[in-house]
Amino acid sequence: MPENILLINKLKKYFPTTERDRYVKAVDNVDLALKRGEILGVVGESGSGKSTIAYTVMGMYSPTSGQILFEGQDISCETSRRPMPVKKDLQIVFQDPGTSLNPQRNILQILELPLKVHRLADPDNTIRKVIELLEMVELSEEYLYKYPRALGGGERQLVAIARAMATGPKLMILDEPTSALDVSVQAKIVNTLIRLQSELGMSCLFITHDLSLMRNLAHRVAIMYLGKIMEVAPTQDFFERPLHPYTQMLLSSIPVISKEEETLKPDRITAHGEIPSPVDIPPGCRFHTRCTLAKDICFTQEPDAIQIGPNHSVSCHLFSED
Ligand code: SF4
Repeated sequence: MPENILLINKLKKYFPTTERDRYVKAVDNVDLALKRGEILGVVGESGSGKSTIAYTVMGMYSPTSGQILFEGQDISCETSRRPMPVKKDLQIVFQDPGTSLNPQRNILQILELPLKVHRLADPDNTIRKVIELLEMVELSEEYLYKYPRALGGGERQLVAIARAMATGPKLMILDEPTSALDVSVQAKIVNTLIRLQSELGMSCLFITHDLSLMRNLAHRVAIMYLGKIMEVAPTQDFFERPLHPYTQMLLSSIPVISKEEETLKPDRITAHGEIPSPVDIPPGCRFHTRCTLAKDICFTQEPDAIQIGPNHSVSCHLFSED
């Protein structure tokens, strides 16, 4: 059995524009590996391509090029062409439970659907299974006949998580699962995910723009910028020894809550300029238009990912020379 449950090799996903031969390069040559039982946070600003990776892994988009291996099996194709066991083992929770849950169906109908599709329950024990799913996310059977509109945002997201859990997935993709929710319920969702992941040992790809969320949640963190991975590191290393200028810029701008965090935080780094368009990605290092440390080579040559330590890699010319 491969050590990595998910392996993404040189993945590209380009979308055509209205202009001939011009593309939005949403994902541009990404290599990424997710270990079994690991939570990997993929963090980036809006438009960095992180959700496109999630949707391509889920088969909602087919890759422009590159390969996606799930448990060693090539799944670089759209969902309709994937075998049923892969669909069962790979589930996603979307950002907005208000739109991802069918408003015409009650919670029982929503949660029994994946059980029926994947033949995971007999007709006479479906309700029992649905109640178990609700209990997994700490909702009672009183919710069975409610409709999504009668639930709060946090409760709807818990139902969406229960639906994703229904098939007993090996890999769960979480696409900004807390960003549409009030701060007051975000912690409940995060704690539920941490508990389920540790009890069931599933692997999670957690897509977010909220770097601070990763500190107590992820085992490793990957930073994306303009369709490319800039740095990947174990979480502690990531927060204590960030190397890429872009990572340092992001970390220097997040609020801290303790003196200890303040000491670990890099000096404030302000990037100049705007994020370039993913249609016109700058040559060389794509961060050079905003990087205060850019040197000549950065304008012409794209840096390769350099292995700096165990599981820690960075794509920056400052480290290539060493
Ligand atoms: Fe900055 Fe150059 Fe490193 Fe890019 S490669 S982040 S421009 S120093």
